[in-house]
Amino acid sequence: MKVTVDRNICCGYGVCVETIDEVFAFDGEEKLTITSDIKLEWQQKVRFACQQCPSQALTLED
Ligand code: SF4
Repeated sequence: MKVTVDRNICCGYGVCVETIDEVFAFDGEEKLTITSDIKLEWQQKVRFACQQCPSQALTLED
């Protein structure tokens, strides 16, 4: 599983970070960062976060 973010449309509300902060986080400049090592047990929450993103800024690849 791989997730990418379109930072041009990410509004930074942090729904994804609230859903699973092991994967999504903000860096020092409040830009969203995503871990490249998504563990199997996190995948369900990651899918949910992608569906819930209010900007549809997250793209999921299996
Ligand atoms: S939920 Fe979507 S818009 Fe909000 S911080 Fe995450 S990627 Fe950005």
